[in-house]
Amino acid sequence: MAIPEPNAIVVHKTEVCRSQMILRVAPLDWEIGRFNPGQYAMIGLPASAPRCANSEPERTAHSDEFFVQRSYSIASPPTERNFIEFYITLVRDGTLSPRLFALTVGDKLWLSKNFSGMFTLLRVPIDANVVFVATGTGLSPCMSIIRSHFDSAGSRRFALIHGARHSCELGYRAELESLAQKSDRLTYINLISRPQEETPAWKGRTGYVQEVWKSGAIAGAWGFEPTPENTHVFVSGNPAMCDAMTAILKEQGYREQTFREPGELHLERFW
Ligand SMILES: Cc1cc2nc3c(=O)[nH]c(=O)nc-3n(C[C@H](O)[C@H](O)[C@H](O)COP(=O)(O)OP(=O)(O)OC[C@H]3O[C@@H](n4cnc5c(N)ncnc54)[C@H](O)[C@@H]3O)c2cc1C
Repeated sequence: MAIPEPNAIVVHKTEVCRSQMILRVAPLDWEIGRFNPGQYAMIGLPASAPRCANSEPERTAHSDEFFVQRSYSIASPPTERNFIEFYITLVRDGTLSPRLFALTVGDKLWLSKNFSGMFTLLRVPIDANVVFVATGTGLSPCMSIIRSHFDSAGSRRFALIHGARHSCELGYRAELESLAQKSDRLTYINLISRPQEETPAWKGRTGYVQEVWKSGAIAGAWGFEPTPENTHVFVSGNPAMCDAMTAILKEQGYREQTFREPGELHLERFW
């Protein structure tokens, strides 16, 4: 594949932890097109771009003429016109993510001008409540939706169940806690699966997101049971978790939304 010219620049980088970052990318001399909260963009770099120091050798070696691009969900709302924000995990032996982690402010990269994806509220009835179930950086599209729709008028309730291995990987925690404190329209539950590796000791919830869904925690917070009739569920991240949640939700009467079929279960599998 011919290597496209870089058309975007890194304007901000936050290291959430050693394996996660928030990257803001601004277009160079073009305007960010319209996208729906929950959609994703493509990012690309040539294989000649350096890899970050804490990466491992990549699984497949590539020549410098190789151009690699991957999909990344947008975490910022469409009202942010100056940059697009991404929340990215480092796959140490991956092809693109170690190169993205080596970028610093001022570095250039390629960003798609078009956006794709059906993980949006476009086909969700205005009065339906929304539960997000996300692992790791699967939170990214949920952030764009929450940031875009949280302040809108209406009585819809949102709940977010966010799971990670370690507490440092619970990105956007302060922002989400603050939103949840301000309004009972957002229920925010976070949990980690490896509390034994935490110093100081983790005092919060532990386990897996599927267990939180099954525990009735959302009904406890809302005062009523989420059902396919009153609530759409958005599941995003690790494919094993997506499969486990799909099995649980289908048992409860949820139907997966597809391009052709309506449904109350929306999935974004990251790989
Ligand atoms: C619609 C969509 C949206 C996505 N949005 C995001 C996003 O917002 N943030 C993000 O970090 N990634 C996201 N991804 C994943 C991303 O596209 C890449 O697959 C990921 O960055 C790995 O690319 P790589 O070239 O480094 O690894 P590759 O060389 O392509 O290796 C791929 C392998 O890495 C592993 N892998 C991929 N993603 C992850 C991950 N997140 N955590 C652990 N292991 C992983 C899997 O084993 C996969 O088979 C998204 C994927 C899709 C399809």
